[in-house]
Amino acid sequence: VDSLATLPSGAGRIPHLNAVILGEALASEENDLVCPSDEFSKQALVPSPQKYLEMYKRSIEDPESFWSDIASEFYWKKKWGEQVCSENLDVRNGEVKIEWFKGGITNICYNCLDRNVEAGLEDKIAIYWEGNEPGYDGTLTYSELLQKVCQLANYLKDIGVKKGDAVVIYLPMLMELPIAMLACARIGAVHSVVFAGFSAESLSQRIVDCKPKVVITCNAVKRGSKVINLKDIVDAALVESSGNGVSVGVCLTYENESAMKRESTKWKEGRDIWWQDVVPKYPTTCEVEWVDAEDPLFLLYTSGSTGKPKGVLHTTGGYMLYTATTFKYAFDYKPTDIYWCTADCGWITGHSYVTYGPLLNGASVVVFEGAPSYPDSGRCWDIVDKFKVTIFYTAPTLVRSLMREGAEYVTKYSRKSLRVLGSVGEPINPSAWRWFFNVVGDSRCPISDTWWQTETGGFMITPLPGAWPQKPGSATFPFFGVQPVIVDEKGVEIEGECSGYLCIKSSWPGAFRTLYGDHERYETTYFKPFPGYYFTGDGCSRDKDGYHWLTGRVDDVINVSGHRIGTAEVESALVSHPKCAEAAVVGVEHEVKGQGIYAFVTLVEGEPYSEELRKSIILTVRKQIGAFAAPDKIHWAPGLPKTRSGKIMRRILRKIASRQLDELGDTSTLADPSVVDQLISLADT
Ligand code: ATP
Ligand code: MG
Repeated sequence: VDSLATLPSGAGRIPHLNAVILGEALASEENDLVCPSDEFSKQALVPSPQKYLEMYKRSIEDPESFWSDIASEFYWKKKWGEQVCSENLDVRNGEVKIEWFKGGITNICYNCLDRNVEAGLEDKIAIYWEGNEPGYDGTLTYSELLQKVCQLANYLKDIGVKKGDAVVIYLPMLMELPIAMLACARIGAVHSVVFAGFSAESLSQRIVDCKPKVVITCNAVKRGSKVINLKDIVDAALVESSGNGVSVGVCLTYENESAMKRESTKWKEGRDIWWQDVVPKYPTTCEVEWVDAEDPLFLLYTSGSTGKPKGVLHTTGGYMLYTATTFKYAFDYKPTDIYWCTADCGWITGHSYVTYGPLLNGASVVVFEGAPSYPDSGRCWDIVDKFKVTIFYTAPTLVRSLMREGAEYVTKYSRKSLRVLGSVGEPINPSAWRWFFNVVGDSRCPISDTWWQTETGGFMITPLPGAWPQKPGSATFPFFGVQPVIVDEKGVEIEGECSGYLCIKSSWPGAFRTLYGDHERYETTYFKPFPGYYFTGDGCSRDKDGYHWLTGRVDDVINVSGHRIGTAEVESALVSHPKCAEAAVVGVEHEVKGQGIYAFVTLVEGEPYSEELRKSIILTVRKQIGAFAAPDKIHWAPGLPKTRSGKIMRRILRKIASRQLDELGDTSTLADPSVVDQLISLADT
């Protein structure tokens, strides 16, 4: 325990936190390892560290043959050329360029649907859909899904959408969302899904950026007990876009009857078309548009946690192999699994791990329209029991919010179908990890804490369930073909136990190829900071056993009297306090220490603020990390500013902490802008 506690940032977190959460002193270091059961490992695709190492070694030493073997499991109209991968990641050698399977001709929609139907999965359920209201649901088999995709693809072709054209999709989690993505892919159109929670302004910015021929939306959606009129938002966005020189000819609108009848929907004749009036009239088969592996598949904007969202462009072939393979291994996927990822298709997670990755594997996927707290906080487990979900993949923000509501909501349900859990989006602090593991998974299901980014297309550092003993809060080891390196400020690789900037050496098939319309920003942001590497923007430490610990974004590292402290580390300590539900930490200028630690703290439901509590929270951090990490200021926060994907926006908190209130910057991707005013009003309490 002592040796772990002295490790640099991140790695020392575990022992103390376990003790707090389990409410008992830990006897030995072994307690920090969570081993998969023999029973689990025996059936796992990768049953041991040895097997992992063997596969990993091959993927690094001979990536071309490793990935070609995988590629051969998919359908290619024409095989790729001699060279599997051609890349230049080093800005000093000219333009950054990544290509995989160039010259190979394929189609990802064909590989998701037709290929599986032909293999005998026609009657297998592809999508179990669960509506906002309990009891309101539906299913689509693989052949039904294929037919629906073909009808929409035929319609899109008919109105003139061609290969390479952009299509903006602004839909909630209806089945029509993956249908629309797949229909675009089928005809070679480039989809750009915009999360249907974004404002008219954000939607219009994206429309102006990618100039779609058509926008696909629905009239309204119910989230919880609230009806949101999406069509009004789209109308406003389209007006704004044409003001900026981009007018969209067609707005295909799905009538989401359970939320709003068409009679109450505002309509612009000539531009607006009801989906139900046109799409079902089209044939249920549609020729595939065969595309090059390097033809663009989609464009997706990042969450905007650190600034203006970036238009990340992914291509077809490499992305296809990468999402399929990462899905299969990181979740130990078996054909009998029922898989549920709570992410919205408006985020990369919904692209790679609601739509493409699972369907490429012929999996049955749960798609949920509603909110996890409606009608109450037990909804997720109700759905798990209803569909006998075996793999459940979600985000730390949801785990923490359910944890705050109490275990009763979970234990009321059986959950015995569950066998693998997953987490993505932020570092999962060990206390939330423990709760997820012990309470949700009944201490039986390995957790895949998947570290990756919109830019990476798929998982980069992730446990493979059954292969490794896990350490709560560590994303463990790289996926096949991925070479993470930790570098210092000068860009020099550091070996062994260390902490620094996380970069990736060499490309992997799922890597993004550019930022749409701005290759220069692509190079500047990702390849110039540490020439020769892809720079992730995240900090990371590696412990003595080689496990990777993500310490948060490097812009967020705080330097207190020469100690470099990751925000994740302090936040982890804060939320291990039983009365603290959530926390966000930023650095502020400090006369003596250089930087001081400023902590925003959300208390558990109903807990009053008090001086005593403030002291006890600070004491928790002192005890767990050390006096140097004790927050200088605790700012009570009824809520935290988060992106719509649930991530804390620390850059806004930094401005509040330093009282630069007129410099809050772009707040358009905030889920609830009113929390900012709340925070400002509580600044000096
Ligand atoms: P922007 O790039 O616009 O600021 P963003 O980085 O939040 O937005 P995403 O691509 O959705 O956009 O998120 C990727 C980031 O999320 C990673 O760089 C990392 O900081 C964080 N992240 C994702 N998964 C994990 C994980 N399992 N552990 C730790 N951090 C994670
Ligand atoms: Mg990012």
